[in-house]
Amino acid sequence: MTEQQTRLGKSELVVNPIGLGANAVGGHNIYPNLLNDETGKDVVRTALEQGINFIDTAFIYGPEHSERLIGEVLKETGKRQQAVIATKAAHKFVDGSIVLDNSPAFLKASVDEALKRLQTDYIDLFYIHFPDEHTPKDEAVGALARLKEEGKIRAIGVSNFSIDQLREANRDGYVDVLQSEYNLFKREVEKEILPYTTEQHISFVPYFPLAAGLLGGKYTKDTTFKDGRAQNPLFTGEAYIRNLDKVDQLRSIAQSKNVEVAHLVLAWYLTQPSIDALIPGAKKPEQVVSNLKTLEVRLSAEEIAVIDQIFR
Ligand code: NAP
Repeated sequence: MTEQQTRLGKSELVVNPIGLGANAVGGHNIYPNLLNDETGKDVVRTALEQGINFIDTAFIYGPEHSERLIGEVLKETGKRQQAVIATKAAHKFVDGSIVLDNSPAFLKASVDEALKRLQTDYIDLFYIHFPDEHTPKDEAVGALARLKEEGKIRAIGVSNFSIDQLREANRDGYVDVLQSEYNLFKREVEKEILPYTTEQHISFVPYFPLAAGLLGGKYTKDTTFKDGRAQNPLFTGEAYIRNLDKVDQLRSIAQSKNVEVAHLVLAWYLTQPSIDALIPGAKKPEQVVSNLKTLEVRLSAEEIAVIDQIFR
């Protein structure tokens, strides 16, 4: 483990704190105007070349396509060993509609199918992507514990679980990582979830850390969005203007450190309890390289408090 690397929860996984969120790698169902697959593969290649090892994907990105493209890059570069691949499942297509399934049989089949798409014989971190309504959460996680014993996965994650679902899932202490939405605009997890993950030595991996790009500092009141962001309340009407104003208030702190707003924001999360690693999404290789600059940012207690206050 190098000086900057970090361990995820109680697991044996050691990662660069700046990872790669890969829902834009092959995720044409999420970003209809995504560039081509080769750009997505370049994003993954660049990450691995630059020392980013923690790569976050899921069955539903594509669907299946993100995992496949990542599998192709792992094979082509011969970098499977250095990579820490996280994937997720819970979505099941039934007569063309999606239902959520956390049953042991579905999770086991999902792991086997993901292994094929990723062209590997182990998944470093496997998450239950969303809770279903019926499966007891400790039973679902128990199924993952058996897959861990078999060596098919190395660590256990859950995603989008409420505090009660997380407590139930972690009844036997098996949960290594929780991934849920968290960014400076959306801070509910600070109340109960982060104290619990801290106490239980579970790593909390925030998704949408850049609020889908809004905290990247590049958008203006004239920016238009042709994907799901066009309906996202953070990006519409008066709220969008207010949010841009908050982002503007970060510029002077970022400038004083010779970094961009995105780096400042990402560095702020790494000062929060139980947040060991981040998975900012990238659509272009340049964004991957840029996000690594976060590791150069040192924040004083006063700066941490000022950023906190702007978004309170
Ligand atoms: P995000 O990380 O909040 O935002 C990523 C977007 O920010 C990029 O697509 C890019 O958008 C912009 N960006 C990236 N680097 C930047 C930089 N250096 N400066 C300025 N802008 C920058 O959102 P996300 O990608 O949706 O979420 C991160 C990851 O979390 C996903 O990739 C996925 O792996 C995971 N996720 C998980 C769940 C779940 O249910 N567990 C849900 C959502 C996401 P533009 O190029 O368009 O500006």
